Amino acid sequence: MKKHWHTLNEQDILKIFSSDLKEGLRADEAQNRYKKYGPNLLSVKKTKSALMRFLSQFNQALVYILLAAIVIKIYLGAYVDASVIFGVVLLNAIIGFVQENKALNALAALSESLVTMSTVVRSGKKQQIDAKGLVVGDIVLLQSGDKVPADMRILASRELQIDESALTGESLPVAKTNTILPQEVSLADRTNMLYSSTFVTYGTGVGIVVATGDETEIGHISKLLNDATVLETPLTRKISKFSHLLLMVILFLATVTFAVGLWHGNSWEELFMASIALSVAMIPEGLPAVMTIILAIGVARMAKRNTIIRHLPAVETLGSTTIICSDKTGTLTRNEMTVQELYCADEKFTVTGIGYAPKGEIQQEKTYDTHTNQALLELLKAGVLCNDSVLKESKESWNIEGDPTEGALLVCAKKAAIDTDALRSDMPRVDAIPFESQYQYMATLHFDKESNKYIIYIKGSVESITQRCSTFLNTNAKPVPLNKSEIFMQVEAMAEKGLRVLAFARLIIERAVTLEHENISQNLEFLGLQGMMDPPREEAIVSIKACKTAGINVKMITGDHALTATAIARQMGLIDAEQNKKSAVITGSELTYLTDEEMLTSSKNASVFARVTPEQKLRIVEALQKNNEIIAMTGDGVNDAPALRRADIGIAMGITGTEVAKEAADMVLTDDNFASIEAAVEEGRAVLENIIKFIGFILATNLGEGLVIMVAILANVTLPILPVQALWINMTAAVFLGLALAFEPQEPGLMQKPPHAPSAPILRKEMLIRIFLVGIMLLGGSFGLFELSLTHGASLEEARTVAVNIFAVGESFYLLDSRSLRFSAFRLGLFKNPWIWIGIFCMISASVALTYLPVMNKMFHTAPISLNDWGSIFAVGVLIYVIVSIEKTIRQLRSNTNKEKNKYDK
Ligand code: ADP
Ligand code: MG
Repeated sequence: MKKHWHTLNEQDILKIFSSDLKEGLRADEAQNRYKKYGPNLLSVKKTKSALMRFLSQFNQALVYILLAAIVIKIYLGAYVDASVIFGVVLLNAIIGFVQENKALNALAALSESLVTMSTVVRSGKKQQIDAKGLVVGDIVLLQSGDKVPADMRILASRELQIDESALTGESLPVAKTNTILPQEVSLADRTNMLYSSTFVTYGTGVGIVVATGDETEIGHISKLLNDATVLETPLTRKISKFSHLLLMVILFLATVTFAVGLWHGNSWEELFMASIALSVAMIPEGLPAVMTIILAIGVARMAKRNTIIRHLPAVETLGSTTIICSDKTGTLTRNEMTVQELYCADEKFTVTGIGYAPKGEIQQEKTYDTHTNQALLELLKAGVLCNDSVLKESKESWNIEGDPTEGALLVCAKKAAIDTDALRSDMPRVDAIPFESQYQYMATLHFDKESNKYIIYIKGSVESITQRCSTFLNTNAKPVPLNKSEIFMQVEAMAEKGLRVLAFARLIIERAVTLEHENISQNLEFLGLQGMMDPPREEAIVSIKACKTAGINVKMITGDHALTATAIARQMGLIDAEQNKKSAVITGSELTYLTDEEMLTSSKNASVFARVTPEQKLRIVEALQKNNEIIAMTGDGVNDAPALRRADIGIAMGITGTEVAKEAADMVLTDDNFASIEAAVEEGRAVLENIIKFIGFILATNLGEGLVIMVAILANVTLPILPVQALWINMTAAVFLGLALAFEPQEPGLMQKPPHAPSAPILRKEMLIRIFLVGIMLLGGSFGLFELSLTHGASLEEARTVAVNIFAVGESFYLLDSRSLRFSAFRLGLFKNPWIWIGIFCMISASVALTYLPVMNKMFHTAPISLNDWGSIFAVGVLIYVIVSIEKTIRQLRSNTNKEKNKYDK
């Protein structure tokens, strides 16, 4: 069914789909259509086919070197060697492919766990459903921040603006209305159509779904269907650069060794093989694959702790975060609002009761009968009518559907015995301007059946409301001149207690109008204030403390009043009592007067940014970044998108966030909780550490092997390790042992250190020293026992088997040391990571097979060795473990005394 929907009128379209503007589809009809047409999903086309991804595994320097080796082996007639090397190349590719696939699938599954919700009307009921369940003919309601879930024809709209850049590349929003257009109008100019995957940036609209899934326009553009999962991050790029450098060094060393060998008078075939053995030994080929796995494991761990990563690089950036800019409402606080104070007609009231159950009273010294005070009644009525939320009673509790700020107003009215449902049907809503952070108010127009008049109610921040008012209702509901400074005093008194204050006003008019910002800009009647409590999240207080110890600064950014924000910030430990209040708190209007220069210092010193507009968030991020900070920034609204994109890590709210914000973010909090950000930072740090541990482990192995071969050639003695054997060691070490480090849980003290600077080298001095230490010990053990065996009359095969097994066993012991950069395996808990032991078991089994299985003997030129030999091999292993442990302890002791010294210096 492909029609020119833009040329038809609404009635015809509704008829074609047998739908209805008010009632929507019948629920059972929607079911039938879903069965018939399938889910509203785009079928995913992979960027690269499986075959291409498999072949790309061969595109590595090591593989080329090995292919050269195979050619030479065949030329020399060593067919067994040639096929063993070929087998290893193949196996290596398969392992790499499987690992990469696993990582890709895990990431894809996670990105799917983010669902887009849509508001539809079915069988006359408004409901939220997963956009996947939409069918043609569905009536969908859209508001700013929503993602357009399918192709739709507009039926009604109000200042609707759409960002169609996903489809057209045009970044300026387009205005959309329900007009009829001539047939020849091109896709980009069809202003009465909405297309799937575009975003509502402003206004509201109602549309009828005309195409879903692959039938949509975006479905036709195949290039956009690619799964965008990229396994590349700044760190992996840094590592591959490092690998290239390493490769050059290795090739240089190989050439030098070759030349020295020739000078010693060895044959070129022999030397060529030795050079290849050296290259194979030293290239850390497992590195990229294992890094990807470590990152993917980090993503999975974060998902368990309520954060969904949308862009892989965020994982490691999290580990380097120095500042977290967080929203207040809902992220630091619980977003469970209760109105506690009221102010109207020069009188103050308190409201008892906590939570959403309408159990409590309005008091003024004693219980107060609200119905005798007309002004108070109007204030409460305004709260009920200028409100989109619904209060629901379930078996166990009372709940809010919609914005908690609004829900609290309903609860408060109910406590005053106002029948909210009756009120809403007696004074039906005719029009509305929804709340937007940038205007800080919301307005609704109602028809009052009793007086036959129209009333506009507005509510919002005190500043935005009082500026529109000239009068104030007194106790008898008569307008008297407004005294603004008195109102501001009342607001301050409430805000200082941490209450979130909403102001209310009304305007009575004779005839209905369309609500515009302009026609409610003056002469309103001020009704009063409602102050609500939103308690801090206990977990967030703990997390803020943890961030402080971890050298991470937390800043609150909010649209709320400066005093409310300050009071909450104090309760949460964001500002201390001594801290100079002037520099710790800064408001949006103060920000507008700051030069970019002043902005740098002010943004650094402030802990609370209040009454800030989303546009100012961007400016704050930019100023902080100029101070070389790594910023994580939260956001939920449409206008937060630029700041989220600009921040090093944009964090969107999973529950209250708009689709626009989620799309712009690097990660999404499924529970909207600040504590989850801190948890993600922790996991990010753990990922960085595990990568460093793995690199330290694998490079020591490579260095040890390389040294053995190099020394042999330089000293002009028989090679203790053959190329195929070097291959064997590398493969087993990376797959059995190194990989186990990816599963290492985070170490104690992870959040007691400052963040890892992204510019800092991955391998610091102490790691380099350790790599050399272990490399030298492996060289000594392997070379020493090889020569010793030969002098004791062992065959060359036997001596080589001993040399190879030194690596297998020595690395198994070194693996225990590599589990932590600081602590011993005992301190970490020997069995905290079972993969370590599974890996060691596999490694030892593989070594036994290599030593005693005749096939393996033939393929790898090995021979059975005695129990005594194993004894010496294990002794070397234990020695490596002990020496590294001592080195770690000394380092730990020294850093502790340094810390002590620093304390005294201060
Ligand atoms: P935040 O989420 O940081 O608390 P908002 O931008 O949501 O900040 O709110 C800013 C101000 O707008 C609040 O202090 C309040 O006065 C007002 N406000 C918030 N929600 C609503 C709403 N639903 N209707 C009207 N005004 C609101
Ligand atoms: Mg808000």
